[in-house]
Amino acid sequence: MTHFDYLVIGGGSGGVATARRAAEYGARVLLIESARLGGTCVNAGCVPKKLMWHAAGIGHALHDAAAFGFRVDGLRFDWAALKRGRDDFVAYLNGVYASLLDKAGVSVVRGHARFVDAHTVEVGGQRYSAPHIVIATGGEPRVPDSPGAALGITSDGFFALDHLPARTIVVGGGYIAVELAGVLAALGSEVTMLVRGEHLLRPFDAMVRDELALQMRDAGIRIVTGSEAGAVRRADDGALRAACGSAEFEGDTLIWAIGRQARTAGLNLAAAGLGTEKDGSIATDAWQDTAVPGIHAIGDVTGRVELTPVAIAAGRRLAARLFGGQPEARLDYENVPSVVFSHPPIGTVGLTEEAARARHADVRVYHTRFTAMYHALKTQRPKTAMKLVCAGPQEQVVGCHIIGEGADEMLQGFAVAIRMGATKADFDDTVAIHPTSAEELVTMR
Ligand code: FAD
Ligand code: NDP
Repeated sequence: MTHFDYLVIGGGSGGVATARRAAEYGARVLLIESARLGGTCVNAGCVPKKLMWHAAGIGHALHDAAAFGFRVDGLRFDWAALKRGRDDFVAYLNGVYASLLDKAGVSVVRGHARFVDAHTVEVGGQRYSAPHIVIATGGEPRVPDSPGAALGITSDGFFALDHLPARTIVVGGGYIAVELAGVLAALGSEVTMLVRGEHLLRPFDAMVRDELALQMRDAGIRIVTGSEAGAVRRADDGALRAACGSAEFEGDTLIWAIGRQARTAGLNLAAAGLGTEKDGSIATDAWQDTAVPGIHAIGDVTGRVELTPVAIAAGRRLAARLFGGQPEARLDYENVPSVVFSHPPIGTVGLTEEAARARHADVRVYHTRFTAMYHALKTQRPKTAMKLVCAGPQEQVVGCHIIGEGADEMLQGFAVAIRMGATKADFDDTVAIHPTSAEELVTMR
């Protein structure tokens, strides 16, 4: 049995962040990872997705180039070359993570961790104990148990694809569905989205979700709402057919993008006296503490806001509280900004208009919809749309929603202002930067 101050199960966004921070505070830390360092974000999430998003953006730019006088005839796209470059970059990051942990003095063990008791974990026959153990095992894509579902792939399978599918069915209407559909369509696949509800990105502000659906349809993506995919079968010609009620949809590849579930299988939580919620996640309080003293959980496995910076922030604050002499350190889950890397991208922070009206009596909304100058010379001119949701007599900005070119890089600074309690008057008092799209956020009337 080897003893540490802190055992970290999972070497993804949250696990690596909490391990490094705890070691900086002087704790003896062991991190256990069963697969590749960096977790979902580095290996099958944010990083490879963002590279694909850039590839799709370049595809769009090449298409737009003619409007600016360029002749770009005879272009060819090589999926295999893109995948090679992407995989190499991810492998490089795996090495960066290993070296960061090494430099921080974190011990790393490769293998699957399972609890022996509330303070002991076993990996490959070796036992490790600590007064504090954090579960940072992330999540995995959900696949329905409908007949033939295994014929489809998930986002993990998307990153393994060695060619661009000619026709893709994407099931779901959340973050992953709209991001992958946008990439695939931009690179030349014929995309059909099967969305069980009436809207893409259901929890988002109505303005951005309606604008996104409009623009995705204009980009040639077929969005079928009110359609829950059932059985999937492979037809004699090799195509996949997904049944939706009495209709059938055909594609070469089907991607399930219907949410993710906490990864807790094989952890032997029962040995530690810990249970899971109905959805499989591990419940934590405001301090990332579970029901068992000394066992904490951070990131996707907790089923809270499933974003990399959230897992990192929760992990760092937990380390600060346990080992850094900061008893009040904890993550505030309000006003977490987020970007959907759709085409066009969406930036959103704070309350939707609907949520603000439910919470506050006095809500005022400012919005604008315009053509960004990038599109001015083109025949097809998608719009940028923005909304500020303000509440109370001071018109405090409680929500900011943007869809359009550059929204992804626009939001971070506004998120700071909103977190600090900025009012509409503060926005108006700020001199605009011209000519940009972002200036519209400080000139709305
Ligand atoms: P993970 O990063 O999943 O890490 C968990 C680690 O634990 C894994 O490495 C796993 O192998 C390991 N593990 C599991 N069980 C055990 C065990 N028993 N023993 C040892 N090791 C174990 N978020 C963003 O903020 N921006 C984005 O653009 C974004 N894009 C995404 C795109 C996709 C396609 C996906 C799927 C997700 C995306 N996310 C994005 C979400 C983000 O990836 C997650 O929120 C983040 O990775 C969660 O971090 P985590 O530390 O909780 O878990
Ligand atoms: P989401 O929760 O975003 O979306 C799930 C989608 O699947 C919803 O449209 C939901 O519909 C639908 N759905 C759920 N169950 C079924 C079902 N049985 N049949 C058909 N449709 C179903 O999950 P994702 O998998 O897209 O992403 C997981 C999380 O990862 C995100 O919530 C986000 O936190 C994170 N992520 C972040 C990204 C970023 O920051 N850019 C990018 C990718 C992922 P309904 O609306 O009706 O519930």
